[in-house]
This record gives sequence, structure tokens and C-alpha cells, in this order.
Amino acid sequence: MDPKAISALQAALEVAQAEAAGLREELEETNRGVLALYAELDTQAEALRQATELKSRFLAYMSHEFRTPIGAIRSIARLLIDRMDGPLTAEQEKQVRFIQDTAAEFSDMVNDLLDLAKVEAGRIEISAGWFELVDLFSALRGMFKPVLTNPDVTLVFEEPQNVPRLYNDDRKLAQILRNFISNALKFTTHGEVRVSARRLDDDSVCFAVRDTGIGIAAEHHYAIFRDFAQVDSPIQKHLRGTGLGLSLSRQLAELLGGHVHLESEPGKGSVFSVTLPLRLHRPGDTPPVEPAP
Ligand code: ADP
Repeated sequence: MDPKAISALQAALEVAQAEAAGLREELEETNRGVLALYAELDTQAEALRQATELKSRFLAYMSHEFRTPIGAIRSIARLLIDRMDGPLTAEQEKQVRFIQDTAAEFSDMVNDLLDLAKVEAGRIEISAGWFELVDLFSALRGMFKPVLTNPDVTLVFEEPQNVPRLYNDDRKLAQILRNFISNALKFTTHGEVRVSARRLDDDSVCFAVRDTGIGIAAEHHYAIFRDFAQVDSPIQKHLRGTGLGLSLSRQLAELLGGHVHLESEPGKGSVFSVTLPLRLHRPGDTPPVEPAP
């Protein structure tokens, strides 16, 4: 080969090698940058985890500590209303009843906060067992009887259709349904609130609470299942609530192996539902065996 061509080739090779070395250097620098970014992300994720844990611990501690004084306020108000300490004027009775109602609301809020903190800290106990849906519905019917004060709204429990004995945590399921039903009653001024259960397939059952109330615009459907979310409405203005119930229900449903769902349109009412497996089977658990009837 012509020596000139050889030296030209050699020169081109050297240039290419120098370029490759430069690129390698750049790549290594980028790699170091990416590693530093990962380390930073890890530190931030750890800080976030610690902050979340601290928040849950604070909520759990605070709500637990609030229970005793709220209990004392409620008992004293009860004593006054029962005239244990002498007569009350009509105005005094009104005021004591106001204290009683506010303390009851406060107590609900503290219980919701405590449950939410427990769920977030992974400390809520799920205790699954066999139960019949008719028993759960009849317990809920009994629980709501005393609060059905609006004659324009009826609460109907449908006969469960084709739903076998269930294996799940009936108390947690009752807590979710209680929350859906009390919301439905709060936001319905006339018509009905209908509770039903229907088997979807071999593995799951869907519980629905349908109301003929004010309904919820689509843009709020996602948010109301998050902590402290409430929708501005004329009814909402007269009601105090915590905005925690639906968030808690969503998280409980997930712990029970299912999920919540909402269909609603303003003015047309709402359907809040929860779909659960017929038999809760968590990893590591032995599969449930149905006892003889
Ligand atoms: P709370 O009822 O204590 O405010 P929730 O988390 O249970 O908290 O509900 C959040 C919000 O979702 C309510 O404040 C209300 O605005 C809306 N909502 C819930 N259920 C219904 C319903 N059945 N009809 C209309 N709005 C509802």
C-alpha cells in the first residue's frame, strides 16, 4: 500500500480513537451523574417514608389521646340531659344537646382518623371468617332504624340474589357499607336509599348503595375518595363531616381484596359500590374451607 495512504489511514484512526476516548469519558461522567441522581432519589424516598410514618404515628397518637376527654364530655352531657344534677331550662337543654352532637361528631372524626392512621401504617387487623349476608343486612337495618328521621326517604335492603356464604371480614365490610349508607341518607332529601348485593361471577360479589340524592359531578369522582375531600353543595353547607369516610372505605376495600366504584350524576343520585372476592385469600393464608351448614 502507498505509504501516504497508510499514514492518512493512521491519522484517521488516531482521530477516531481520540473521539472514542472523549465519548467514553463523557459517558462515564453521565453514568456518575445518573448514580448520584439515584442516590439522591433514594435519600428523598427514605425521607418521604419517614415523614409518612411520622404522620401516621402522630395521627394515631393524637386520635387515641383525644378519646378520653371526648368520652368525658359525652358522659357529662348525658348526665345533664338526664337531669341527674337538677332541672334544665329549655334553652340550657338546647345548649347541652348541641354539646352532645358536637362531641359525637368529634368522636366520629377521631375514630376515622385513628382507623386511617392504622390503615396507612399497615396496622389494621383483617380477621376473616364465614358469614351470611342476610345477617349483615339485618344488623345494618337495625343500626339505621333510629336515624331514619326523614319521612320522605326510605331505606330498602334488597334480598341478596344468589350470594353464597362469604369468607371475609364482615365488620370491615359493615364499616364500608355503613359509611356509604349514612352518606346516601345525608345527601338524599327525598326518594330512597337502596342497598343490594349481587354475585358477579364465580369469585366475586358486588354490594351497591343506590340513592336518589343530589349526585356528584364527574370531576369530583376521583377526589372524594382521597383524604379530607368534600364537594361544595347547598346540602354540604348544612352538614359537617370529616371527608375521611370514603378514603377509609376505599382503603378498607383494598385490604379486603376488592375495590370501590362510583356512578353518579348531579341531580340523578349516586351508586357507591364495593366489589369483593367471595372468599378472601391472602398470600400465606391457608385457603378457607367452608364449614358444613
Ligand atoms: P364526609 O361525608 O364526612 O364529608 P366522606 O369521605 O364520607 O366524608 O364523603 C366525602 C364527600 O363526598 C362528602 O362530603 C360529599 O360531598 C360527597 N358524597 C359522599 N357520598 C355522597 C352521596 N351519596 N351523594 C352526594 N355526595 C356524596
